[in-house]
Amino acid sequence: MEILKFTEEHKQYRERLRAFFAKEVLPHVDQWEKEHAIPKSIWNKIGKAGFLCAGVPKEYGGWGGDFLHSIIASEEIVKTNHYGLIIFLHSEVCAPYISAFASEELKKKYLPGCVSGDIVLGVAMTEPNAGSDLAALATTAVEDGDQIVLNGAKIFTSNGINGDLFIVAAKDPEIENPYQAVSLYLVEPTTPGFQIGQKLEKMGFHSQDTVELFFSDCRIPKNNIIGEKGKGFYYLMNKLQQERLVCALAGMSQAEFILDETLKHYKKIKSNGSLPKIRQSKQHTIVDMATEVKVTKTFLYTLIKDHIDGKDIVTETSMGKFWASEMVRRVADASFEIFGLEGALEKNRIERAWRDCRGISIFAGTNQIMREIIAKRMDL
Ligand SMILES: Cc1cc2nc3c(=O)[nH]c(=O)nc-3n(C[C@H](O)[C@H](O)[C@H](O)COP(=O)(O)OP(=O)(O)OC[C@H]3O[C@@H](n4cnc5c(N)ncnc54)[C@H](O)[C@@H]3O)c2cc1C
Repeated sequence: MEILKFTEEHKQYRERLRAFFAKEVLPHVDQWEKEHAIPKSIWNKIGKAGFLCAGVPKEYGGWGGDFLHSIIASEEIVKTNHYGLIIFLHSEVCAPYISAFASEELKKKYLPGCVSGDIVLGVAMTEPNAGSDLAALATTAVEDGDQIVLNGAKIFTSNGINGDLFIVAAKDPEIENPYQAVSLYLVEPTTPGFQIGQKLEKMGFHSQDTVELFFSDCRIPKNNIIGEKGKGFYYLMNKLQQERLVCALAGMSQAEFILDETLKHYKKIKSNGSLPKIRQSKQHTIVDMATEVKVTKTFLYTLIKDHIDGKDIVTETSMGKFWASEMVRRVADASFEIFGLEGALEKNRIERAWRDCRGISIFAGTNQIMREIIAKRMDL
């Protein structure tokens, strides 16, 4: 069943990307995970190799990619079994805000560097008291002549250490309605008053540089606003669908990776004679895992097709996001049972995947929020 029409060129792109990862990423992943960091130079290498920001138009340095290239890149990076070089955050979550809504001046200034990997992007929405409830944002943006003065704190900002440019959500304290008060700004970390706080050590995603950010009278040019003042919520809601779709795809790809690893293990113990005599339960578990992955992939690929066709898929994207991020947990658990204690060893690739997949239900809108959205749209 072919739902997405990958051309020969897309297929070659996938092969080139796999070859790039095999040479430049896979040999280093264990080290990056141990160091809880990736070298900044890898962003530049992957950009120069032409694998970032498929959606950026050619006039702003893009290489003429489409959303299927984005899908391929998102799937393949997850299969390297780490979330340090989180290219889908850079290419599919952050860059689209600039491509779609920023001024010509900002697009020309920043997008070519995003494509080449010279500029690494991050998005700073979440705050200590504003996660799911973005209306509670407390970071302020106050106009002062031709500048904007930012004050406040952010938390859980990914790419926080390697980032060269952050999309920061902040509100005008004079406007009461939070849905009209929030705007998005582009902020370079070298700006006085911008401080990178501590790196947050997490249960999973060890190689990802997730940090706190602080703004203390941080002055940026007024022109660094993305789009129009007060439209921050509109822009966030507009782009969150794509973010959720890509996160769902990450969950599915990770489940596919876990299934592959489990199959390799099963074949190994089958061929070396160490498979237990009662093998039916293992077979059934693998059949269940394969079915979960296949059904989810079929649903998500249909959603991606609808997204490309511009259909309203808010309900289905929320379903896909909560489903895929819970499905991968079931698959990871099942795999763990098949491996037995061997699955708990850090040298086993399943161990990292089991930890990493847990966070997918939290970011890009928690699964409870996904269910809230669906309930509202079902008019329950
Ligand atoms: C690995 C990782 C990377 C991240 N990267 C970034 C990043 O780059 N930039 C960024 O801005 N943020 C980032 N985040 C933050 C992420 O977006 C937030 O964690 C998420 O929005 C949830 O917010 P919270 O953690 O404050 O939880 P809360 O919003 O406090 O939620 C806690 C619990 O309450 C539930 N809940 C809250 N509100 C409701 C409601 N109305 N109805 C029902 N249940 C509700 C939630 O579902 C959850 O179970 C990242 C998070 C993780 C884990």
